[in-house]
Amino acid sequence: MENIENLKQLLSIPKDIVITTHRNPDGDAIGSSLALYHLLIQDGHTVHVITPSEYPSNFEWMAGVEKILIYDIHTEKANEVLDKANIIFALDFNSLDRIDKLGEYVMPLKAKFVMIDHHLYPEPFADFMLSETSASSTCELVYEFIGMLGKKRNLNIDIGNAIYTGISTDTGSFRYSTNPRVFTIVSELIALGINDVAIQDNIYNSLSFKQLSLIGHSLNNRIEILPEYKAGIIYLTKKDFEDFTIQRGDTEGIVNYLLMLKDLKIAIFITEQPNIVKLSLRSKGDFSVQEICRKYFNGGGHKNASGGFSHKNLKATIQQVKEILEEYKNILK
Ligand code: 5GP
Ligand code: MN
Repeated sequence: MENIENLKQLLSIPKDIVITTHRNPDGDAIGSSLALYHLLIQDGHTVHVITPSEYPSNFEWMAGVEKILIYDIHTEKANEVLDKANIIFALDFNSLDRIDKLGEYVMPLKAKFVMIDHHLYPEPFADFMLSETSASSTCELVYEFIGMLGKKRNLNIDIGNAIYTGISTDTGSFRYSTNPRVFTIVSELIALGINDVAIQDNIYNSLSFKQLSLIGHSLNNRIEILPEYKAGIIYLTKKDFEDFTIQRGDTEGIVNYLLMLKDLKIAIFITEQPNIVKLSLRSKGDFSVQEICRKYFNGGGHKNASGGFSHKNLKATIQQVKEILEEYKNILK
């Protein structure tokens, strides 16, 4: 099933379909999954969305979000629908280790796999792949995919809201990773009737006071600027997680504050998790944080936005980051 005609054929009669996306799902992961969900249910398919872990609360307003099965919590029900699935979609990730235990479960299944993704270096686990690293977001590719299926007539507000959400969050509200197609799609979605201002309000102007205080704490007490590398680090300790009762999504976007500094090229956000230390890296320009995450931190992503993790403790991880920056010093000047 390497081409779209085979896939169209397969989808021409109602199927059992599962849509999966990556751990710690962001706006693009949730948006692309729900967009595809709202498309496929129109043709009588039985569709379930499974995320490995919980989604942030600022996506709770999205239609269909309450039906998502969270693998960490609803394991049994999720396994049941996976066993029955004819087709499994992999959205916004390109290697099965990005979905942890869910990846181990789906690996031996007989279902056809369809990958729609925009990260670097896809692994060849899918029967059909729409993988474009030049795309702003998986949502942009889902919109293309709907066109490829000849289903543009089935676009509706739920699909439009979901696609707009992923494009907006993965481009930092249209500040990076944009391309002409992004604005064409958004223009079509607004013509369709989505309320872009209301969506942005739901996503970005929905902090609790606690979340705002955490940003203040991060910028006041947990920041280290390294001018010699044009880099900055923000780190959060286990105790910070307790003091601010940090939950999924509460730390989203903190790394971007570093990028607001004029001469800064690399932003590094490090958090002490129960069993690992998690890293989020961002860069401006040509420097690839993807390379750093892949080489040193079991991770990956995009050239300018990547993540990974370490089994060292927080202090040792920060030290390692500084040693890596020293290694790249000549490129960073
Ligand atoms: P974030 O820093 O927001 O968690 O993630 C930035 C980008 O890097 C996202 O596109 C995300 O999919 C990717 N990413 C984050 N963490 C990991 C990881 O542990 N492994 C891989 N392969 N990619 C990651
Ligand atoms: Mn994405």
